[in-house]
Amino acid sequence: MNIQNIPIQSLKGIGPAKSKLFHKLGIKTVEDLFYHYPRGYKDKSIITDISDLVPEYQYTIKATVDSRPLEIRSKKGMLVVKLPVSDDTGSLNIVWFNNRFIKNAIKQGDELYFYGKVKLMGRDVVMESPEFEKTTSAASVNMLRIVPEYPLTEGLSHKDIRKAVFAALELLEGKLTDIFPEDFRKKYQLSEINFCVNNLHFPETLFNMQLAIKRFKFEELFILQSGLIHIKRMNSSEVQGIAFGAYDEREFAEKLPFQLTNAQLKVIDEIFKDMEKAKPMNRLVQGDVGSGKTIVALLGMYKCARNGFQSLMMVPTEILAEQHYLTFKCLLEGTGIRIELLKGSMSAKAKNEVLQRVRNHEADIIIGTHALIQDKVEFPKVGLVITDEQHRFGVRQRTVLSDKGENPDILVMTATPIPRTLTLILYGDLDVSLIDELPPGRMKIETYSIDSSKKERFYGFVKKELDKGRQAYFVCPLVEESEKLDLNSATKYRDELQNEYFKGYNVGLLHGKMKADEKNQIMEDMRQGKIHILVATTVIEVGVNIPNATIMAIENAERFGLAQLHQLRGRVGRGVHQSYCILVSDSDSKIAIERLKYMTKSENGFDIAEKDLELRGAGEVLGQKQHGLPELKIADILNDTALLKSSRDAVEYLYDSGKLEEPDYQSMKKELNARFNKILEEIALN
Ligand code: ADP
Ligand code: MG
Repeated sequence: MNIQNIPIQSLKGIGPAKSKLFHKLGIKTVEDLFYHYPRGYKDKSIITDISDLVPEYQYTIKATVDSRPLEIRSKKGMLVVKLPVSDDTGSLNIVWFNNRFIKNAIKQGDELYFYGKVKLMGRDVVMESPEFEKTTSAASVNMLRIVPEYPLTEGLSHKDIRKAVFAALELLEGKLTDIFPEDFRKKYQLSEINFCVNNLHFPETLFNMQLAIKRFKFEELFILQSGLIHIKRMNSSEVQGIAFGAYDEREFAEKLPFQLTNAQLKVIDEIFKDMEKAKPMNRLVQGDVGSGKTIVALLGMYKCARNGFQSLMMVPTEILAEQHYLTFKCLLEGTGIRIELLKGSMSAKAKNEVLQRVRNHEADIIIGTHALIQDKVEFPKVGLVITDEQHRFGVRQRTVLSDKGENPDILVMTATPIPRTLTLILYGDLDVSLIDELPPGRMKIETYSIDSSKKERFYGFVKKELDKGRQAYFVCPLVEESEKLDLNSATKYRDELQNEYFKGYNVGLLHGKMKADEKNQIMEDMRQGKIHILVATTVIEVGVNIPNATIMAIENAERFGLAQLHQLRGRVGRGVHQSYCILVSDSDSKIAIERLKYMTKSENGFDIAEKDLELRGAGEVLGQKQHGLPELKIADILNDTALLKSSRDAVEYLYDSGKLEEPDYQSMKKELNARFNKILEEIALN
């Protein structure tokens, strides 16, 4: 039966008003209803004798009402309703607080099921504010079973949703078609769909419930990954890309001012091999802060230029665009490779001139911010598109960029270390290269967590470093969610430092709202050492590279995510000098303290990311905006790693074995496409 087309209004008991409420939860059809996963269950399947009740636990009892409810006013004016009930083994009082309706709902002599927590009230054993249900109501969906609890919306109760689901299950009577063919289910140990829908919503046993949950988690992960793999295969197998030739790029690599690390060489090799194939490259380079990703990108672009193609490099901030531009210009000197900087904030005239050169293919490497992906920019001969700090962009932007030019090679780079399993999901459509080694001679950044009472001492320490010729970043406190407030506080903070603690030094200020020219000037002054302390908002979070800076101080450090702190810390320790990171926080929250303490102990981005996930959960760490993928509704990428893996295997098996083309698999194929398209739509809306 096709449940996508059955509106929930056609279910017993759901009129226009109720159905509107269901729509609010995103439930329009019976299918949506089935995929409205319970957020938990209560096991009400066992009736317990009153004489066996133990305080502080939840029970179901079957009891007779001995007399009318008694209403008492407590000393504080609260209405306490007491209802004496009993079964064959004993009696107890049921109590409700401030519930004026109970007395009309219950009569003496009623036989009812109650489900609730048993408590001690003085010396009395009572059951507090239980749910209850008449024993006569035939197929009760709310009692004597394992009962589901759902995400709700105002006006819609668990009971309403249970009733609707129950009606829908009755309507269907096990006639759902499984998208997974039988042999596939066997192979991956998945239970059949009708069994699963029944046991997800109204489990017969806890074991059956687990089977059902497992199937739906698998299904969710499977669909997502099959979609991603579909994109990947589309990108790689059917599409013709550019097969770059080998020129002098390896010699160029050898002539760089420093020797590349083995990890860099390995990744460069992987990139070159991809580029030389006729298939378009789709590669993610992951490497911790400071591992030297920029140079890897440059080598790709160098090769591209030698082949007579243009490369685009997109970065999240203008500061970073400017910095890469300067670095590359310097490293490319004498090679004849022409490089251009393109920024949103350029004057129209300047921009036009750059665009003109880009159009005429008088530029080989183009670096820029988002302006790059604006439609009006024409790139006549794009061979390679690079996104730096990929975690700042979504999947969608990735595809937009690759639309420029004729199937160019794609390289994305990120420092946000995410566990391997997450990489599979977030970047399931990409091949992954890992730079797992830092350039030699890097010293551990000494990290301290202090409270503001130690600030003056800390300022003294900063002065000593400045007097040695070093520089410092002070990241100012985040204020609420308002940029304006942030700005005020940044300005105030800078003035305070300049006028009170660091009189003889030059304290600069950098924030997102400054004009591009001002920002560039500040960064230039910082690079030249004219600024001793740079007070900044998190605009400096990504990519900034000033090796002479050795101190990173972060105020209200508890307000930042661990990965973000790690990124900020990565702005120092980039040269030959011992560097320091000072986390200032007065928070007494246990988690905050634990997180900051972890920062002082670990320098490994991957460990920090894992810890962050553990402490804050995936939702918060990898906000939807960041990765651009839809939220998972039942599976949990952190805890369901086994299912993640088996669903991944299943996807690969299906695609590799050609199974998907067999007659038994046609409905599955169709369904997969439909569901993944729905996901893509969701992504597009982000
Ligand atoms: P990230 O991976 O964070 O983008 P960068 O590419 O900015 O790191 O590199 C960080 C610093 O390390 C830069 O100053 C860069 O010049 C330097 N660097 C990169 N590779 C090496 C290397 N193999 N040996 C020494 N220094 C290197
Ligand atoms: Mg970088």
